[in-house]
Amino acid sequence: MSEAAASPPTRTDAVHAGRTPIRRAGLHAPPIDLSSTYPISNMDAAGESIASFARGEDGDEDEPVYARLHNPTVAHAETAIAQLEGADGCVAFGSGMAAMTATLLAARSAVVEAGRGENAHVIAVRPMYGTGDHLLSSGLLGLPVRWVDPDNIRAHVTRATALIWIETPANPTLDLVDIAHVAEQAGDVPVCVDSTFAPPVLQRPLDHGATFSMHSATKFLGGHGDVVAGVVSSDAPEWVERLRHVRVATGALLHPLAAYLLHRSLPSLPGRVERAQATAIELADRCDGHSHVCHVHMPGRNRQNDVFARQMSGAGTMIALDVGSKDRARLVVESVRLITPAVSLGSVDTLIQHPASLTHGVVNERAKEDHGISPGLLRLSVGLEDADDLWDDLSAALETRC
Ligand code: PLP
Repeated sequence: MSEAAASPPTRTDAVHAGRTPIRRAGLHAPPIDLSSTYPISNMDAAGESIASFARGEDGDEDEPVYARLHNPTVAHAETAIAQLEGADGCVAFGSGMAAMTATLLAARSAVVEAGRGENAHVIAVRPMYGTGDHLLSSGLLGLPVRWVDPDNIRAHVTRATALIWIETPANPTLDLVDIAHVAEQAGDVPVCVDSTFAPPVLQRPLDHGATFSMHSATKFLGGHGDVVAGVVSSDAPEWVERLRHVRVATGALLHPLAAYLLHRSLPSLPGRVERAQATAIELADRCDGHSHVCHVHMPGRNRQNDVFARQMSGAGTMIALDVGSKDRARLVVESVRLITPAVSLGSVDTLIQHPASLTHGVVNERAKEDHGISPGLLRLSVGLEDADDLWDDLSAALETRC
């Protein structure tokens, strides 16, 4: 049975998640195990352990055999994240893109095994992270994509639909997708929510009927700009096994040092998000009245308020600002001094970037136009600096003249 919290994780949950086995072992901090291989005490037991880990099952942790099959430091971080997500299990990967790839491969393997592999495809909703959009559009994984309107998913689901992929709040526009409505339309088809912009203290997709909750843990979960990681959680043990099976077979591992840093960042997750969110709301309010800002996007602000109220417990720390043109956007990005012009998000420091040129440069122009990734759009990830310092920097950059 899962040790998951029954409601959104509290600060106490975040501090103690995944710690029980560590305390039982007589330790206070998670131990870091860097072994690539392990001494084999019994050949037959090791053989059985390899076979069960390779199928994605819980193998014998006393016979881990080889680091691609199992690593205890990674397993501690996974247990912690599963608890925060209210999931049965979590599987960690070397990046968010590796986590997305594994989820697509796991879903594809299930339809193929069920004899419904012909015309297997994925249904997805735009906008979403640029490289994710590219992974789906390119057909790189042999799973063509059908881009659909989230209110019209039911009409597109067939026996060969392997997976429905949504991202909410969406990168970079912060559009929301109603998770429960998508899950209801999906029927038996699994639904994966990329919840990178809303860590479990703000949104838990499994509570709303999703099959998978996926994060680029490079962002809020890692939280300090020093970890690249991806995680997928599910409350269905058979899906957790499929994901582990894909990881063992493809080798898309999370390194134990990265897993240690990820686990170490979880206790501060609620505090980081609450503080940065308060600053983000203040900055968004100030931007709203600024003569050089055309639009301010943030969850729960001006639109989709019903969806926001149903599935999110806070607006988060991301703001999208439309400053009217690419030239104005470039000027702002090149003029900030305290804020760092950089891709990525969810770190302790504030970052700004121009999605149309950078994170979404790879998305086709028509899709950018249709889904609000406009030339004047900037994406701001608000960190833990003082609001007044950030505003001094941002407002000066907004007022810079060519
Ligand atoms: N999903 C979203 C929403 C993202 O913003 C990103 C990266 O920015 C990813 C997935 C990919 O994650 P990673 O860079 O860890 O591979």
